[in-house]
Formats: sequence, structure tokens, C-alpha cells
Amino acid sequence: MDAAFFTAWIDEIARAVTAGRERLTRLDAAIGDADHGANLDRGFTAVREALAAKPPATPGAVLTLAGTTLIRKVGGASGPLYGTALRQMGAALGSAPEVTAGELAAALEAGVAGVRKLGGAEEGDKTMVDALAPAARALTAAVAGGLKDGEALAAARAAAEEGARTAVPLQARKGRASYLGERSAGHEDPGAASTVLILTALHTTATR
Ligand code: ADP
Ligand code: MG
Repeated sequence: MDAAFFTAWIDEIARAVTAGRERLTRLDAAIGDADHGANLDRGFTAVREALAAKPPATPGAVLTLAGTTLIRKVGGASGPLYGTALRQMGAALGSAPEVTAGELAAALEAGVAGVRKLGGAEEGDKTMVDALAPAARALTAAVAGGLKDGEALAAARAAAEEGARTAVPLQARKGRASYLGERSAGHEDPGAASTVLILTALHTTATR
């Protein structure tokens, strides 16, 4: 997977986030402040523009620029969190011109660690971590088990979906939704839902 692959992934995220904007907004209206769709749409549109204006030469540089742009453009919690994830992934991939699925898995693990450290959320707190962490784990396991790239990324996407679903009945313990206490239970977390879009975009890009 080269810089063009990672740029195509970002383009696919931007497309999916624009298409899913209303749904993400609706989820955030229920347990937050109804801006998650707008935040990510604005953020990833800006990322796509930044990558087009000055195409980076390596996967690491693509993800680092994407993360930096997201942090700059998105005021909500999700901007710094996803931005940090992408920047940590970029740092983990270094300056290699091409990366393997194993290296991508390790980078995703580093990205999740960055989100945990910045936001202080663990699995079960009903945040994006509930989808991100199982996705990274599934990708690592799938690569270790010898699955082909497309199958490994399908497993990561499925784990993100399962994680988002598992978090629905939980009570939020981090972020705005935690202000609702018990009333946050029974709703899908918007950040977990957008993580599913991001992992689905990765699988789509790899199998196109
Ligand atoms: P804001 O909450 O500032 O309005 P967004 O609506 O864009 O920002 O993003 C909300 C999502 O961010 C939540 O659904 C949750 O998944 C995620 N989130 C919020 N706080 C944290 C945190 N401390 N750690 C991990 N994820 C978080
Ligand atoms: Mg919000």
C-alpha cells in the first residue's frame, strides 16, 4: 500500500462522511450536540483538499498531513481525537514508500493508543474507542493468521461494527454523552458510528 492508496482511503472517507452526514448528526443530536456529521464533513473535506494541493510522497506523510489538517479544522472532540490517531499512524509508518498490512495493523494500534491517551477513554466507555480498539485488534490477529489484505480489512471493519453495536446499551462515561448519564444508554455513539465508516472506507479502498 503506497501514498496513492492512503490518499484514496481519505477520499473514500470524505465521500462516506458526506453521504452519512445526516445520520451522524442525528446520532449526535440524541446524546450530544448534533454537530458530529458537520464536524467530520468539514474536516475530511479539508483533508482531501490539503492532500490534493500538496500530494505527500509516502503513506506516513499522507496520514500525518491528514491528522494535522483535521486537528486544525475541527473544533469538536472528534477532530483532535481522529487527528491524533492519524498522526500517530503516520509516525508509526515512518518514511517507507510502501507498507504491508502488518505495518498498517501496528500503525492502527498506535493510533488507538494515541486516542486513549488523549481522551482517557477505555473500551466500554461508549466512545469511538469501542469501535477502534477491536478493529485494530482484529486487523493484527487477521494478519498474524495469514489472511489476505482484503480479508484482514474486512475483519477489521466487522470488528468495528460489532464494537459499535456492543456499545449501544452502555452508559457513556466520556465526552458530551456522559453528561446524560443513564439516558445515554440505548443510543449508538456517533463516534463509534463514524469509526465504522472509516474502517469500511479502508476495506472498500483495498478491494476496489
Ligand atoms: P463534540 O462531542 O465535541 O461535539 P463530536 O460530536 O464531533 O465532538 O464527536 C463526538 C464523539 O467523540 C463521541 O461520539 C465519541 O465517540 C467521541 N469522544 C468524545 N469524547 C471522547 C473521549 N474522551 N475519548 C474518546 N472519544 C471521545
Ligand atoms: Mg458533537
